[in-house]
Amino acid sequence: MHVAANTLQSRHAVVTGGGQGIGAAVTRLLVAHGANVTVLGRKLETVQALAAEQPERMHAVTADVSDADQVQAAFASARQRFGPITILINNAGQASSAPFLKTDATLWSQMLAVNLTGTMLCTQAAAPDMLAAQWGRVVNIASTAGLTGYAYVAAYCAAKHGVVGLTRALALEFAKKGLTVNAVCPGYTETDIVRDSIANVMAKTGRTEEQARAEFTAGNPQGRLVQADEVADTVAWLCGPAASAITGQSIAVCGGEVMQ
Ligand code: NAP
Repeated sequence: MHVAANTLQSRHAVVTGGGQGIGAAVTRLLVAHGANVTVLGRKLETVQALAAEQPERMHAVTADVSDADQVQAAFASARQRFGPITILINNAGQASSAPFLKTDATLWSQMLAVNLTGTMLCTQAAAPDMLAAQWGRVVNIASTAGLTGYAYVAAYCAAKHGVVGLTRALALEFAKKGLTVNAVCPGYTETDIVRDSIANVMAKTGRTEEQARAEFTAGNPQGRLVQADEVADTVAWLCGPAASAITGQSIAVCGGEVMQ
């Protein structure tokens, strides 16, 4: 992994869903670039375990991103620890699958609440600091499911397409204020979401791990899963000075699976 040390020195980043998977890779890389990072998740022990790696540079807070009051409280705690928030990585997400006719209102609302409303609430909580600083970076972790359709994940797809739309709208609204707003759209990435899905396929179909894994790598022209560090590299680049003119974009990190 290429690390340009200190390009984010003295910046305060909040990474939602930062305790594991892609969020943990992003958190570690932003710290390596010089930022202080508040790691937000629902499970205290997960975010605390990561923050314990470098307690002077990482701070753990809990919130459900779909709950406005919890978000406000968590961002207040973040501000108290490391000052104004000028980088926000909206990474918290959930991916439930179901055939469309079995997608009930609960599943639909849950996908929209966590993936889309959570992104909106956290951005509303952080944007005033960025506007005051006249500098800010918002990076939304959407998905290739925000750029194209997939069967059996209608609610997730709709939510992630919403994240891409929100990204474009905010990029324009904040373009003259020193803020950039972008989305990163991973393909299947080797984290717990995919490991659980592979286990699920094995349990439901009796396939071996290799056979089940092949279902998740088949759509990727490189024939593999994306690694969390590869997603993190794109996020860190978007936060740095080299990407100042990049805004409103949705960058697919997916081995060529989706081309725009
Ligand atoms: P993961 O390992 O399951 O991590 C998801 C994170 O989100 C966890 O830290 C979880 O922490 C947090 N989270 C979930 N619901 C939350 C809520 N309501 N409030 C606050 N935090 C919440 O998943 P991942 O693979 O790293 O995924 C990260 C992001 O990438 C997600 O937005 C996902 O949709 C997107 N993505 C992943 C893939 C993939 O193949 N892995 C592909 C495309 C896009 P707690 O449980 O502690 O809350």
